[in-house]
Amino acid sequence: MTSYIIEPAVPASLPIRGCDERFPVRRVYCVGRNYAAHTIEMGGDPDREVPFFFQKNPDDLLTGDADFPYPGKSSDVHHEIEMIVALYKGGANIPQEAALDHVWGYGVALDMTRRDLQGECKKTGRPWEIGKAFDHSAPASELVPVSEAGHPADGAIWLKVNGETRQQGDLNQMIWKVPEMIAYLSGLFTLAPGDLILSGTPSGVGPVERGDQLDGHIDGVGDLHCKVV
Ligand code: MN
Repeated sequence: MTSYIIEPAVPASLPIRGCDERFPVRRVYCVGRNYAAHTIEMGGDPDREVPFFFQKNPDDLLTGDADFPYPGKSSDVHHEIEMIVALYKGGANIPQEAALDHVWGYGVALDMTRRDLQGECKKTGRPWEIGKAFDHSAPASELVPVSEAGHPADGAIWLKVNGETRQQGDLNQMIWKVPEMIAYLSGLFTLAPGDLILSGTPSGVGPVERGDQLDGHIDGVGDLHCKVV
C-alpha cells in the first residue's frame, strides 16, 4: 500500500438525489459561449465563433445549497446558471453517436465568475483561472441519474436573484448539444469516469451582492439554492 508524507486530499464529490452515495468528481470542464444570446451580451459574434472549453477545480464545487462566500480581489462577481453533465465512462475520440452512453446523470450548477479579473485576463491574453477557478466558484445541486432524467435536450433553464428572474433560456438553445460537447472534448483530453461538464450559460448574466438569494432551475433536472454571504 502506498504511504503518503501528507494526508491525501479527500476526492471532491456531488450528492445524488434519493441516495446516500456520492458521485466522485475527477475534473470539471466548462463550455464557454454555448448560447448565442450570451455570446452577444459578452460582445462576441455567434456566427463567427465556436464554443470553447476551460476548467475549474473539483474542489471549487460547493454542495448542499451551502452559502457562497463573496470572493476577494473582485468587485464584479457574476452568476452563470448551467447544466452539469456527469460522466461515468471515459475515453478519447468518442464519436457523437456513442457520447450519451458515457453520461451518468445531470445537475444544476453556477459558474460563478470574477468578471473584472476575467476581463483583465482577456485584455492581457492571460489564462482565466483567477476569474473562473477560485474557491467555491461552482455551487452545484445534487445529481439526478439518466434513469430518472433521461437526456434532457430541451426544457427551461433559469436563475432568479431575490425572486426576480435574471436568466431565462432553454436547453435547446445550446450551440453544442451534449453529444457534441463530449465528442469534441474527448478529442482534446482523455475523459474519465467522474468528469463533469458545465454546459454553458444562457443570457442575462450579471453581478451578485452579499445577501442575494440565488435560485436556479432546470426542467426535469432539479434546483439549486445558494445565498451570497
Ligand atoms: Mn459559464
